[in-house]
Amino acid sequence: MKRFYIEIGQKDDGQQARLLHKEDCQKLKNPERAVSLSRSPTSSRALEEAQRLFRDTQKCPHCATGD
Ligand SMILES: [Zn+2]
Repeated sequence: MKRFYIEIGQKDDGQQARLLHKEDCQKLKNPERAVSLSRSPTSSRALEEAQRLFRDTQKCPHCATGD
């Protein structure tokens, strides 16, 4: 189980987006200021929780890929 965070950040194309990160992602800049979610087994499960809070949340392309 990993902890996930929602943080506003820049995507690789430079656009700002609300991104879902795993706790150990290097793109997660400020975990103490990011929105902390409960632990999830997969990033897809965490994304469901994240989108209940913020519908526009997207997976971080660096850490929340795959599952
Ligand atoms: Zn990330």
